[in-house]
Amino acid sequence: MEKDLKELKEISRKFIDERDWRQFQTSKDLAEDISVEANELLELFLWKSGKELDKKAKEDKEFLQKIKNETSDVFFGCLALADHLDFDLEEAFLSKMRQLEKRYDKEEVKGKSVKISEEEWLKKNK
Ligand SMILES: [Mg+2]
Repeated sequence: MEKDLKELKEISRKFIDERDWRQFQTSKDLAEDISVEANELLELFLWKSGKELDKKAKEDKEFLQKIKNETSDVFFGCLALADHLDFDLEEAFLSKMRQLEKRYDKEEVKGKSVKISEEEWLKKNK
């Protein structure tokens, strides 16, 4: 089953409109929702080691389903926020990936675990 982002946006919009929930949604509410859902995802991983979790996600279908559900909740929030603010999420994503390609030069960071903040990168590339 493959749907493009436009179809997914329509599905999320329909879900919201059929429930008349748009009245409760501001950009702040939707950003909070994304954060809450991201934390629900994170809660699944609390107090367990990374390797233990990778193994559990591969072997425990119920656990993997919980991960899928929370990841989808985050994605739903992203679609709703993009719709609310009327921006093209696909274009925003592609633009961000182009920025990351520059910030994390593949030759410089290959095989290295690094975090370069946007502020740090901008300072370095003035
Ligand atoms: Mg959730």
